[in-house]
Amino acid sequence: MSEREATEGEGPLLDNARPPANVHDALVAHTARPQDLPARADCVVVGGGIMGLATAFHLAELGVKDVVVVEKSYLCSGASGRNGGGVRAQWSSETNIRLMRESQDLCADFATRMRINVWYRKGGYLFLARSPERAAQLEASVQLQRANGLRTELVDAVRVKRIAPEVETTGLEVASYGPDDAVVFPWPFVWGYAKACAERGVGVFTHTPVTGFETDGRRIRAVVTEAGAIATDQVVLATGAWSPELAAMLGLSLPNRPHRHEICSTESLKPFLRPLVADLATGLYCSQSMRGELVGGVSNERVPEGLDQRSSLRFLGLYSRELLRTIPRAGGLRVLRQWGGCYDLTPDGNPIVGRTDELEGLVLLCGFMGHGFMMAPVMGKRVAEHLVRGAHRELFERWSLTRYRTGKLLEETMILG
Ligand SMILES: Cc1cc2nc3c(=O)[nH]c(=O)nc-3n(C[C@H](O)[C@H](O)[C@H](O)COP(=O)(O)OP(=O)(O)OC[C@H]3O[C@@H](n4cnc5c(N)ncnc54)[C@H](O)[C@@H]3O)c2cc1C
Repeated sequence: MSEREATEGEGPLLDNARPPANVHDALVAHTARPQDLPARADCVVVGGGIMGLATAFHLAELGVKDVVVVEKSYLCSGASGRNGGGVRAQWSSETNIRLMRESQDLCADFATRMRINVWYRKGGYLFLARSPERAAQLEASVQLQRANGLRTELVDAVRVKRIAPEVETTGLEVASYGPDDAVVFPWPFVWGYAKACAERGVGVFTHTPVTGFETDGRRIRAVVTEAGAIATDQVVLATGAWSPELAAMLGLSLPNRPHRHEICSTESLKPFLRPLVADLATGLYCSQSMRGELVGGVSNERVPEGLDQRSSLRFLGLYSRELLRTIPRAGGLRVLRQWGGCYDLTPDGNPIVGRTDELEGLVLLCGFMGHGFMMAPVMGKRVAEHLVRGAHRELFERWSLTRYRTGKLLEETMILG
């Protein structure tokens, strides 16, 4: 696929809207026909976002034979096709820092490995702190990041002006700069995994909603879809913000909740902004794409809870205000596109991953807040290695659903949005 084909048609994908024809061709190229849905599979991955596809890919790489992915809509219809493509290792917990170091390497290598252009741009991430509390948070995080091998630095206003001259530094306490953080174009990651799955014999069935499950006591027997049932005893639930809905079909109650998050893209400008600029206090983030557009979003806590991928004018007001406070010269810019997707929020800002006490053969892979895209390459690998070899037990215990019952909640302060 040429770069032109990859970019044309990007824009607000409204619910139930069909993507433009050229994009549609790319979406269906690596998917299977509903009539070929198998009667049984060794493992069924529910959800064809980046988490599900990355997991299916690594399962196939590890030699698992009959892997099937079932997706209710088209590829990229969920958060994986609607996000900002930020890939950073600047986190406040050792677990996230280490995982993201590995995920960054996988992202950097993705284009070569999968033979698809992902527009990977290593311009760094610049986190701004405008209050003493935020400054203290950043300082603690940077210390931990450096202890874990990252090149992150605490920088003052003078350095900020050198790194990103258009950023307003009045009132700035301190900033952290991670030169190895990056931004990518998300869609080719999804297509790349789907293609690699297809090449390894994984059936990726789009427009195949899961409507229920067959269970026998504590065992899963089958995944029921609109196109028929697939007998299996191994299910990976990778349905992002829809996960509570799917888990409820299995009698499980999950604590994660969908939250609409909006984002927009402006007309193109000559390159002027190297890093992605972010402010943890307001949730503002903004980066300049390789096509010159400013792409960004902001926290909007007044959004009602629920599965809602629409856009609003209110968001444009909030975003403009925060963006102009940070990059005043953006004032004359025109917004060309805006769209929305769902964050998958958990009570402690960390994901829910691993097996459950209630059902054998079920693995949860959800609750990735607004940072699951960057985590997917490493998480797909970890989950597959766990399923095949029982590896990474410690990680999966830490991130298990059980922690909400035992009260062993985790903390992560570098959350955007
Ligand atoms: C606006 C926005 C900006 C973001 N920015 C970033 C960022 O910069 N960096 C980052 O790392 N992350 C970002 N994120 C978060 C990131 O996009 C998600 O965490 C990640 O894509 C989650 O991947 P997933 O595969 O788990 O979920 P999804 O991509 O949502 O996939 C879940 C899939 O499950 C399918 N499904 C639902 N119900 C069923 C059913 N009954 N049967 C079958 N399939 C079903 C859905 O159709 C969907 O395709 C952002 C998110 C949004 C919305």
